[in-house]
Amino acid sequence: MGRRRGHNKQSSSGNNNDNNCSSHQQVTRMMVDDEDLDETTESSNLDDPISDEPDDSLIGGDKTSADYYFDSYSHFGIHEEMLKDTVRTKTYQNVIYQNGFLFRNKVVLDVGAGTGILSLFCAKAGAKHVYAVECSQMADMAKEIVEANGFSNVITVLKGKVEEIVLPVAQVDIIISEWMGYFLLFENMLDTVLYARNKWLINDGIVLPDRASLYLTAIEDSDYKEDKIEFWNNVYGFDMCCIKKQAMIEPLVDTVDQNQMVTNCQLLKTMDISKMSPGDVSFTAPFKLVAERNDYIHALVAYFDVMFTKCHKLTGFSTGPRSRATHWKQTVLYLVDVLTICEGETVVGSMTVAPNKKNPRDVGIMLKYSLNGQHSQVSRTQHYKMR
Ligand code: SAH
Repeated sequence: MGRRRGHNKQSSSGNNNDNNCSSHQQVTRMMVDDEDLDETTESSNLDDPISDEPDDSLIGGDKTSADYYFDSYSHFGIHEEMLKDTVRTKTYQNVIYQNGFLFRNKVVLDVGAGTGILSLFCAKAGAKHVYAVECSQMADMAKEIVEANGFSNVITVLKGKVEEIVLPVAQVDIIISEWMGYFLLFENMLDTVLYARNKWLINDGIVLPDRASLYLTAIEDSDYKEDKIEFWNNVYGFDMCCIKKQAMIEPLVDTVDQNQMVTNCQLLKTMDISKMSPGDVSFTAPFKLVAERNDYIHALVAYFDVMFTKCHKLTGFSTGPRSRATHWKQTVLYLVDVLTICEGETVVGSMTVAPNKKNPRDVGIMLKYSLNGQHSQVSRTQHYKMR
């Protein structure tokens, strides 16, 4: 799940390329190209046609942009993005189709069903009944989709919040959900899954996926830090550094090229979705990142993986820089300091993660880091907010 549209720094369409396409790289390329330009040919678009805004009354539908702002999952676009993320969707499909023994004659609850895709997979794999709960307007589409595909007798779509609906059965054997947000925990839908687990899952029931881990690494990122952060130092000759401070606080969701990685990857936290309690989404984890070459470090990068450990053979996917790209990309946390690090030196520190008290869908991150190296001696605490 995810993901406000327009949140990303570059909306790369689809993440289903075989190579790990990096928008960092794209930007670098664009910057080089720009330098080749004759200054006098700079950026006037007077010749560009002005788009003809279509008349709303001709389009039909009763949704306004305000509806979508508060409920982006009602629009098909976000579901299209998720469905086309083949790493994501095919992993769920494989888990379900290749482990029919888990699903046959079982009652399944699909938490946050969206288009109903996971429910359809489960029905096809032989589930006795699937309850597909979806709170956005997409629930109406899911009902139509279930009917159109002849699964109305197996799948029941329930429109409403998991926390508010009345489930026609007292217990379910399996809970399946795709609840992961940027930085794993943004939007905090995990709470909803844990709520459902505690309320309806039978004693030896299973949660899919059942394991999620958060990792940290460090990258060289001078070009992009220049473009996104230092940019505010001088905007057409004016000092806009107050915005730079805000830009530093908001982690950037973007793909990172694996060649940018300067250190090893460190596991920060593993969550067992079948056992954890809601409070476990707040934690402090220490880290030690060891430089694998001499380089600069501009940012730390967080990413996650999820696992389905109850499968015949361990299945899952990673959203890390070394894996095939997904729509979650990675989460880049820029450092105030540019660290100069030598091979073998370590950045040590801790990361504290907690849902924002006022708005639990936002995530607060506190990063403490220090490097006592040959060229850099730094010790600092930085605060970030995913919102
Ligand atoms: N399962 C679908 C959609 C995943 S996105 C797929 O894999 O493609 C997560 C979905 O959960 C969104 O459609 C969102 O509207 C829904 N959702 C989020 N919180 C919910 C809640 N508390 N109750 C019901 N649905 C919820």
